[in-house]
Amino acid sequence: MFPFHGVDYVEIDSLFSDEEKLVRHTVREFVDKEVIPHVEDWNREGKFPRHLVPLMAELGFYGANMEGYGCAGLSNVQYGLIMQELERGDSGLRSFVSVQGALVMYPIKEYGSEEQKERWLPALQSGKAIGCFGLTEPDFGSNPGGMRTRAVKDGDHYVLNGEKAWITSGTIADVAVVWAQTEEGIRGFLVEKGTPGYISQDIKGKWSLRASVTSTLAFQDARVPACGLLPKALGLKGPLRCLTQARYGIGWGAIGAAMACYNEALEYSKIRKQFDEQPIASHQLVQAKLADMITEITKAQLLAVQVGRLKDRGRADFAHVSMLKRNNVMMALDCARAARDILGANGVADEYPIFRHMCNLESVVTYEGTHNIHTLIIGERVTGIAAYT
Ligand SMILES: Cc1cc2nc3c(=O)[nH]c(=O)nc-3n(C[C@H](O)[C@H](O)[C@H](O)COP(=O)(O)OP(=O)(O)OC[C@H]3O[C@@H](n4cnc5c(N)ncnc54)[C@H](O)[C@@H]3O)c2cc1C
Repeated sequence: MFPFHGVDYVEIDSLFSDEEKLVRHTVREFVDKEVIPHVEDWNREGKFPRHLVPLMAELGFYGANMEGYGCAGLSNVQYGLIMQELERGDSGLRSFVSVQGALVMYPIKEYGSEEQKERWLPALQSGKAIGCFGLTEPDFGSNPGGMRTRAVKDGDHYVLNGEKAWITSGTIADVAVVWAQTEEGIRGFLVEKGTPGYISQDIKGKWSLRASVTSTLAFQDARVPACGLLPKALGLKGPLRCLTQARYGIGWGAIGAAMACYNEALEYSKIRKQFDEQPIASHQLVQAKLADMITEITKAQLLAVQVGRLKDRGRADFAHVSMLKRNNVMMALDCARAARDILGANGVADEYPIFRHMCNLESVVTYEGTHNIHTLIIGERVTGIAAYT
């Protein structure tokens, strides 16, 4: 892998404050030291680097854009830069941090009782506890409103039955934020590891996000104390608002994966020689690919900064975030595919990071709202007509 010194074509850095650049620098160093030298091994072995959980906590990554309960209280742009740098390392690591902060800490902070916040937020922020977010089911992905998992009140407990699929960090989670149908509509529950009737299992055989844990969760008459109900989440907008938080981070993260692929392809093309001892970078068709990549990365950076600044002013909504996630993830996937091509046969080897990023991005383009679903969200925003069904 070639050294990385950032990707900045139009003085994007002039849009960042010194504090923002310092956060980026810190995470970049962490990734260069702790992730890049080992990530291909983790990917090959299908191993999540659990030893990094406390280290990332010390650096304040979990819930970094949240206030209180030990959280770093960073701006949304600073948070976005953390996601970008982490995903330059690996989308799986960024996924872990996204889930912990945006999908577990955020709903507890927004919808939880004071008791729930005191119990879980400091533990999650410090990495002493791990969380997961159970929304998707085997038969309901893009349409989570159809979920079959059900919670029925029984005295001072709720009884949960159902199954969740494709849950990041499922088997390693101490607490699962689980969404279920109830008499009052969709509600969220904090289900603790060890609850009788609650089991989780890893999904084996993934070709994507191999350095991340992905699991199924099953509930068979699992009795959750009534104090596990998130009191302020009612209806599908409860989980959807969490997804908006996570999608925002993904929109930044994808830039990191694209930067890694672009950097690798650029450096490789300058030293790889074909035909008359000329570097392949001297061929117009190779330059066209590099020109497309740097142009699209630059556009993605500008979009991320604008949505981030809007979010810091309380002006970013879910449809802005859909454009960010949709554009930047597809951009990164296109960059990864083009970079793979520039490396020729070497592009398929894990001596280089590109194929790993490419496979990871195939999940990232699907999770947290598929590319199609974000197309429909943007379509609805501009036409006023919903076209989901
Ligand atoms: C590695 C990984 C980790 C994940 N982590 C989590 C997690 O932590 N928690 C969680 O709850 N979920 C998680 N997911 C699940 C993810 O959010 C879903 O896979 C995603 O929402 C898509 O659902 P689906 O896979 O059922 O696809 P489907 O909804 O079946 O979609 C299949 C295809 O049909 C298209 N489609 C569906 N409806 C429409 C429509 N109306 N118009 C046009 N096209 C349509 C989709 O765009 C897609 O191309 C994860 C997934 C992966 C791969």
